[in-house]
Amino acid sequence: MFKDHDRAAAMQPSGDYPPAELSHAQMVLARMLPDEPAPPPPGPVRLTRANGFAERFDEWRARVSLKLSSLDLTPDLASDIGSRRWLRGAATLVGLSALALSGWPDFAPLAAAPATRIDDGVRDEFRSQMIMPLALGADSGRRMGATAAVTELRNAPERPRLDLEATLAQGDGFARMLERAGVSAAEAGQIAAMIEGLMPLGEISAGTKVDLTLGRRPAPGAARPVDALSFRARFDLQLAVERQGGRLALLPRPIKVDSTPLRIRGVVGPSLYRSARAAGAPAAAVQQYLRAVGADGFAAGDEFDMVVDYKRAATGEVEAGRLQFAGVLRGGKPRKQLVRWGSDGQFYEASGVGETRQGLVAPVAGRMSSGYGRRRHPILGYARMHAGIDFAARHGTPIYAVTDGTVQYAGRHGGHGNYVKLSHGGGLATGYAHMSRIAVGNGARVRQGQVIGYVGSTGLSTGPHLHYEVYRNGVTINPMSLSFVTRAQLTGRELAAFRARHAELQKVKPGAALASLAPDPAARQEPVREIDRLDSKKVG
Ligand SMILES: [Zn+2]
Repeated sequence: MFKDHDRAAAMQPSGDYPPAELSHAQMVLARMLPDEPAPPPPGPVRLTRANGFAERFDEWRARVSLKLSSLDLTPDLASDIGSRRWLRGAATLVGLSALALSGWPDFAPLAAAPATRIDDGVRDEFRSQMIMPLALGADSGRRMGATAAVTELRNAPERPRLDLEATLAQGDGFARMLERAGVSAAEAGQIAAMIEGLMPLGEISAGTKVDLTLGRRPAPGAARPVDALSFRARFDLQLAVERQGGRLALLPRPIKVDSTPLRIRGVVGPSLYRSARAAGAPAAAVQQYLRAVGADGFAAGDEFDMVVDYKRAATGEVEAGRLQFAGVLRGGKPRKQLVRWGSDGQFYEASGVGETRQGLVAPVAGRMSSGYGRRRHPILGYARMHAGIDFAARHGTPIYAVTDGTVQYAGRHGGHGNYVKLSHGGGLATGYAHMSRIAVGNGARVRQGQVIGYVGSTGLSTGPHLHYEVYRNGVTINPMSLSFVTRAQLTGRELAAFRARHAELQKVKPGAALASLAPDPAARQEPVREIDRLDSKKVG
């Protein structure tokens, strides 16, 4: 702001200005006042000059600036807080802020005047020409009669073809679904019967979407006939129904499916779940794996090994099934090899199925933390008989039946929490307490090693552990005093079949299920667009 002033001061000594900077007033003055000297003023000698307007303005500005600078308009508000000088400064700030805020624009819409003046009469005229009053029941009171250009239709025209998508719901029937989409009962029944002849309708999974094309109605009010219909009936089968020469024909199109099982191996690392998921294992398979192997007992360097049922269709879909094999390797040597076997789908340890052993069978993979006998109860606080032994194990670790038996009780049982009691015949029974979840029902038969529940902390318990008891004729005894003879779980032909299955699973190569499928020649389609035709010629 003061730059101009400096420049003017710098120019003063020379006494004149470049012509371009002379204002009109100066030029006039220059002409009016030639170079003759001014008469000497009375009194003390004062050098006067014919000052131009700009010069006078600069002088005035300098004066004002000097005066304003002595006014101390901008005190530092961080010092002398509360003093008169500070209050004055604060008031100046508030005043300037209010001034700035008063110039704040508001963004209200600009009001525009209507092109024509609208009074009530004009508005009614407009309203009578709108569609809206018709919808509101013509409240303007004007009659809107049809002109001669309007002819009455006998019935509304219909689309000649309808493309629909119908979805098979849970507990739905195939024919019922078609009828819902507008197919006549007779035709829906006929189509359902045609499909039934090829595969059971119950095998079509709920949620299957059916592309449906309905043709022109033969007569007004009659149901539309089915022209075409197509859906994925099974993972390996696409079914189509088409009208050919007036009759419906069923066209099954099998889809090539590769069912090489998916084998995934990898290092456990800090989290087995994360490592296995990162290696490409489906989430459900990892959960089954953890359930079978138990969340405990992994070292960071261990390797997991799993084989999962896996199906890949040539159309690109994949379907992961059940876990068939769960292994743990430590130092490259198998430590656990669990194979799913039997109609109940239980896992069996491959190395132990044919063995007969004797000794204490631990119902859980964990360390014994408390023995049988009198002790101070951790919650109740007084000395009390501890009627079983405790195993410390992580929450969710599977609990196995120590030997074959029948479930005598499964459910909540006071301080035992979730409790399972198995009866093994001969007056012997075993009890398993504090479970987080029970995996068997009352009265069920269980086999030795079968998972009956998972470690938890229900009932009177301070943390996840298994309280395990053994009863003889209804009275608890020390479980350590009893050793079950573990007889072979599988024998004879079943054992041989199991071993063969184990060997077969071991032969699956990791990653074999991910190799690319040979393209299905039937799936190759003639290109429709000319440009694609050119493209495929260049490639082929
Ligand atoms: Zn206990």
